[in-house]
Amino acid sequence: MSPRCFRSAGNWAVARVLQAVGGLYAQTTLGREDRIFSFARCTMNHALLLRIADSSPNVLIGDTKEIVVNIEAELVGAVERHEIEAYFQPQIDVATGTIIGVEALARWRHPVEGLIAPNDFIPVAESTGLIHEIGAFMLEEGCRNAARWHRDGLAVHVSVNVSALQLATPDVFDTLHRLMAEYKLPAGTLTIEITESQVISDLAGVAERLERLRAIGLGVSLDDFGTGHSSLSQLRDLPITELKIDKSLIQQNETNGALISVAVALLQERGVRVVAEGVETLEQLELVQRIRADRAQGYLFGKPLPVDELDGVLTGTK
Ligand code: C2E
Ligand code: CA
Ligand code: CA
Repeated sequence: MSPRCFRSAGNWAVARVLQAVGGLYAQTTLGREDRIFSFARCTMNHALLLRIADSSPNVLIGDTKEIVVNIEAELVGAVERHEIEAYFQPQIDVATGTIIGVEALARWRHPVEGLIAPNDFIPVAESTGLIHEIGAFMLEEGCRNAARWHRDGLAVHVSVNVSALQLATPDVFDTLHRLMAEYKLPAGTLTIEITESQVISDLAGVAERLERLRAIGLGVSLDDFGTGHSSLSQLRDLPITELKIDKSLIQQNETNGALISVAVALLQERGVRVVAEGVETLEQLELVQRIRADRAQGYLFGKPLPVDELDGVLTGTK
């Protein structure tokens, strides 16, 4: 695999790992198991390499001495330069099979590198504070498009991811209040997604902030459920309107559907909507139906799309 495929700082590390593994294959006559162990060791080093790569001001790839993206520096001003884009991924109503909502997902259209995925720049944005302007842009785009779809008679709900840092700023409530009023969004149209791990790190503080979001007429979704080791008793009293079951639970072959069903039923009893993420196959859709999730999201129904392409899907012209 060419290192050119991996030119962002984070992926540079992966490229080096793959190069190393490739070199190992070429130089040795290791058996299959040895190669698997070597690969596993390399993979374990991945996290360490990522940290090294992230701390490098400019990253050079191998002998090519090619200067790759310095994410930290180049992300400054990306919003003003219109390089950040909101993509939207459909959410399906499991009962009717229709698109009932969309999740806004950030993309960075780098002038040289092309589209950069959020996992490659959101962590940098969070560590540099740039997440505030990126987050504000994503909220504005979410609301602007929600209002446009509603005007066109397409009653889709819109979910926007909000990081812990954004939620910790008092300004965020004023911003959301202003957006809801400016775009005249009916209550429940906009849902804020926060991850399970950020909730669990400060349960009491977050609960108070979620109450404030609810008071503005926003939905509150607990994202990535199943990755943060929270217990149902911890979640029971949280003022959430939606739970998103993480794709790792939906995609596990040996997932115990009965256990998830209990959690789903308990939350639905309290009026919480349940969304299953990462639905890629018909078998996974069957699991989603078995656990009685309300909504499903995943490649089976559609990948995140630029807004004009999603418009086409929503109006049925594509
Ligand atoms: P997330 O919030 O859990 O978003 C879902 C991710 O799963 C998206 O990745 C989506 O493209 C991917 N996905 C959807 N369906 C499937 C599927 O069927 N199979 C698989 N394998 N993946 C699927 P994406 O767009 O790369 O976003 C990654 C993460 O970056 C998001 O995870 C979210 O945590 C973060 N992120 C994205 N946009 C924003 C943003 O505007 N603000 C903040 N704070 N974080 C964001
Ligand atoms: Ca999300
Ligand atoms: Ca998620």
